[in-house]
Amino acid sequence: MQPYQNQSIHIYNSLTGKKEVFKPIEEGYIGMYVCGPTVYSNVHLGNVRTFMSFDMIYRYFKHLGYKVRYVRNITDAGHLENDADVGEDKITKKARLEQIEPMEVVQRYTVDFHNILNTLNFLPPSIEPTATGHIIEQIELIKTIIDNGFAYVVNGSVYFDVHKFNEANEYGKLSKRKLEDLIHNTRALDGQSDKKNPQDFALWKRAEPQHIMRWPSPWSDGFPGWHLECTAMSTKYLGDNFDIHGGGMDLKFPHHECEIAQSEAAKGISPVNYWMHANMLQLNGQRMSKTTGNTVNPHELLSGNNTFFSKAYSPSVIRFFNAMSSYRSILDLTDDGLLASEKGFNRLMEAINTLETITAGTTSTFNVSEWKQKCYDAMNDDFNSPILIAHLFEAAKVVNQIKDDKASLTSEDLELLKQTMNAFTFDVLGLVNVAQADTSSEKLSGAVELLIQLRQEARANKDFALSDKIRDELAAKGIQLKDGKDGTTFSTN
Ligand code: AMP
Ligand code: ZN
Repeated sequence: MQPYQNQSIHIYNSLTGKKEVFKPIEEGYIGMYVCGPTVYSNVHLGNVRTFMSFDMIYRYFKHLGYKVRYVRNITDAGHLENDADVGEDKITKKARLEQIEPMEVVQRYTVDFHNILNTLNFLPPSIEPTATGHIIEQIELIKTIIDNGFAYVVNGSVYFDVHKFNEANEYGKLSKRKLEDLIHNTRALDGQSDKKNPQDFALWKRAEPQHIMRWPSPWSDGFPGWHLECTAMSTKYLGDNFDIHGGGMDLKFPHHECEIAQSEAAKGISPVNYWMHANMLQLNGQRMSKTTGNTVNPHELLSGNNTFFSKAYSPSVIRFFNAMSSYRSILDLTDDGLLASEKGFNRLMEAINTLETITAGTTSTFNVSEWKQKCYDAMNDDFNSPILIAHLFEAAKVVNQIKDDKASLTSEDLELLKQTMNAFTFDVLGLVNVAQADTSSEKLSGAVELLIQLRQEARANKDFALSDKIRDELAAKGIQLKDGKDGTTFSTN
C-alpha cells in the first residue's frame, strides 16, 4: 500500500480553469514535463521560482510513493528574441556579443543553472533533454505535421497553418483566445514574411548564412522552432498523451498553445491531461524579467551583494519564502517578506530541534493523526504550501507547550509528530535544518584536527614528504593550515 492510495489530490488545470481530481494515466506512475530555461544568460529568481514550485510538487508526488518521470528540458537553440518568429536566436546573439561559440554560451549558463539549483537543494529531474540533442525527432515530427496537412513549406522554412488547424480543432483553448480576435489584434504581414497568416508559427526556419547553429533537414539547412522542441522532447519521453505539463504563466501563449496544436496536428490527441502554470515573481511590485532588467540573480541574494536587500539570505529561507505563498499567486520579492520568512524558518527549525529533546507523556493533549491529515489535505488542495506551513507552525506551538509542561504526547504520537514534521519540512518543502548544517561543519573540524595531528606526527618522524602532502592536499580542497607558536590552526575559503 502506497501513501497516495489514501490521498486525493486536486490540481488546478489551466486548460479547464477548474480544480480537478488528479488521476494519473497509469496508477502509481506520473509523467511530468516542465519547460526548462533558455540558457543564454544567468537564471534570475523569477525563473527559479517556477522551477522551485515544480520541485516541491515533484517532491510531494515522490513522498506519496508515486514513480515520477520528471522531464525538464534545456533550450539550447531555436528560441528567437521575439516570440513571433523574428529576431536573432538568443544564444547566437550572446555568442556574437561575447565572441565565443554558441555552445560555450550554452555550457556556461547550463552549469550556472545547475549550480544554483544544487545550492537551493533541488532534486534533479529524471531526464534533462536538450533541444539540440533531439533534432532528428523534431524533423520527424515536422514531416508528420506536413503529411497531415497542417504545415506548409516556403523558401526552406516550415510553418504551422493555424487557420487550417482551427477548421476542425480549437486553437486558443488553453489561453482562452479566439482565432478571430487574434486576427483582429495582430498586425498584417509586412511583405517580408513567408507566412500565409501572421498567426502561423515556425516549425523549422531556414538559416541565414551568418546563422551558426544550423542542421541539415529535408527543407533547408536551418534550425527548429522553439515550440516544436518541447513537443518533440515531452512526447518522446512521456508518450503522446501524458499527465502533467508545467511552466510559468507567461508560457501559456503562444508556447503551450502551440504545443497543443502541434501534438493534435501530428498525433490527433491532446498531449496533456493537466496543464499547470506557476505565477510570476515580482521585484518590488514589478514583474521580474530579463528583458526589462528588473532582476536579481540568486547569487546576489545569497551573498547579499545587491542593492535591493538589507542582508544575505540562506537557500532555505529563499525556499521557505517561496512556499509561503501558493504557486498560483503573484509573489512580490521584498526585504520585509524575506526577513519575515527568515524569522519563520528559524522558528520552525527551533521547534524541530526541540522535538528531538522532549520526552513523551502518558496522555496526548493534541490529536496528531488529525493534524497529519490536515497537512496532507493542504498539499492535496492544489499544493497549498502556505496552509501546510500554517499547520507546521501549529505543531511547533504544541512542541513549545510540551517543553513548558503545558501539553503532552504519548510516545507513539510523539514519534508520528516527528516523522510527519520531518517529512513535510525536509522531504516535501526541501528545507535544510540549520542544526544539521552546523554538525556537518563540526564534523569537518574534527576531521581536519585529526589530519593536523597526523601531520605533526609525520614531522616528528621527519617524514616531511607526508607532512607536506597533507598540507598541500588540504590547500587544494580550500583548507589552509597555519603554523603558529601555539600549534597549527586552519581556515577555509
Ligand atoms: P526562459 O528561460 O525565459 O524561457 O524562462 C524559463 C522559465 O522561467 C519559464 O517557465 C518562465 O515562465 C519562467 N519565468 C520567467 N520569468 C518569470 C518570473 N518573473 N516569475 C516566475 N517565472 C518566470
Ligand atoms: Zn517548452
